[in-house]
Amino acid sequence: MFKSFRIGSLFGIPIKLDVSFLLILPVFAWLIGSQIELLVGPLNAVLGAGLESGSLTAGYRPWVLGLLAAIGLFVGVVLHELGHSLVAIRYGYPIDSITLWIFGGLAQLTDQPEDWKHELLIAIAGPIVSVLVGIGSYLLMLVVPTQFDGAVFVLAYLALLNVALAGFNMLPAFPMDGGRVLRALLARGRPFAQATQIAAEVGKLFALAMGLFGLLQLNVILIGIAFFIYIGASGEAQQTVLSAAFEGVTVSDIMTAGDDVDVVSPDDSIADLLERMFSERHTGYPVMDDGRLVGLVTLTDAREVDPVERDAYVVEDVMSTDLETIGPDAEAMDALNRMQRHGIGRLLVVEGGDLVGLISRTDLMTALDIIRSSGSTEAAKRAADDREPDRSPPGDGRPERGWE
Ligand SMILES: [Zn+2]
Repeated sequence: MFKSFRIGSLFGIPIKLDVSFLLILPVFAWLIGSQIELLVGPLNAVLGAGLESGSLTAGYRPWVLGLLAAIGLFVGVVLHELGHSLVAIRYGYPIDSITLWIFGGLAQLTDQPEDWKHELLIAIAGPIVSVLVGIGSYLLMLVVPTQFDGAVFVLAYLALLNVALAGFNMLPAFPMDGGRVLRALLARGRPFAQATQIAAEVGKLFALAMGLFGLLQLNVILIGIAFFIYIGASGEAQQTVLSAAFEGVTVSDIMTAGDDVDVVSPDDSIADLLERMFSERHTGYPVMDDGRLVGLVTLTDAREVDPVERDAYVVEDVMSTDLETIGPDAEAMDALNRMQRHGIGRLLVVEGGDLVGLISRTDLMTALDIIRSSGSTEAAKRAADDREPDRSPPGDGRPERGWE
C-alpha cells in the first residue's frame, strides 16, 4: 500500500486515508455523476424514489451529486469497518486502525481471532452495519420532501449501494467477510489451519473467476479486487499454517543458548576480528563488554576499514549499536515476523540486558520441518537442545557459510 495519513479517530480507533483513496474518490464521483440517467430507472423501480433524470442532470449538478454520493459511499465503508472493529474490540482483539484505500476499507486487527464464534461475529458485523446504513438511507429518503430531488437521489443511491456492498462482501471469497464466515463455520469441526486452507482455496477460485469476468468486462476495479483476494488468501493461509505449527513454541525452545554463542570484545582489533572470522567461519559476532551486550559486528563492518589500518582500529569503532533483539519468552512466530519485517536473518535473544542466545531463520525453519514431519513441537525442542552450536552469524542475514 501507499503512504497513508490520519484524518481523525472514532471510538479511539485512528481513521486513516491512503493516498490511493484520493485518486479513487474523484473517479467514483465522475462514474456516479455520468451514470445518473442510467441509475434513475432502477432507483425508481426498486425504492420508489420518484426521480426525474431531467432536472438531476442539469448543468454541473451531476458532478456535485456524484461527489456527494461518492463521499457518502465511503462514509458507509467506514461504518462497515467500524462494525467489524467494535465487535473485535468487544472480544478483546485490538484494532490498529481503519484505513480507506483504493478498494474500500480495511480494519487492521493486531491479532487474528482463532475462536470460530468470535471470527463469525466479527466478520458478519460489517455487512450487518452496511444493511442498516442502507435501511437508514432509505428511511431518510422517504422523509425528505420530493422537491429536494438531489438529496432523494443521493439517499436512494446509498440505500441501494450499501445493501449491494453487504451482499458483495458476503461472497465466500476469503479473505473477504463471506470467506471469513465460511472459515469460521469450517473451523467448528476441524483445526483452524485446515479450515483456513480450505477457505483460502475457495477464495482463490473466486478470485480467478472474478478476475476472468473482470477481464471479459474490461473492469479494472474487479480485476484489482480479484488480485487482492488472491494475494490475501495465499498470504493469510501461509501465515496461519506457520502460526498453527509454532503454537506454544517460544524463542528459548529453539534458540542457540548463550553459552554456545561465540562473542568478541569491543577492544579486539579489526585484524584479529577478521582472522577469527576466517578461522571460525562466522560473518558476525555479538560484542560483549564485561558480560554485557554492547553491539554487533559483521564482516561488512570490518571490511570498511582500510587494510593497512586494521591493526589501529578496534571492534568498537565499527560495530553497530542499533540492535534487533527479542526476549526468550517471546513466541517463535513473533521472532519470524520480526525478521521478515526488518529483512534480517538473525535476532539476538536478550533478557534484562544480558545476551542469553541467538535465533536464526534457519533455526525457525529447521524447527518447522521437524514439527511438520513429526507432528509434535516436543521433537523440535529436543532437536534444538541436541544441536551443534549455530556456526552462523547474528543479524546480518547472510547465508551461513557465505565465503567458503
Ligand atoms: Zn467487511
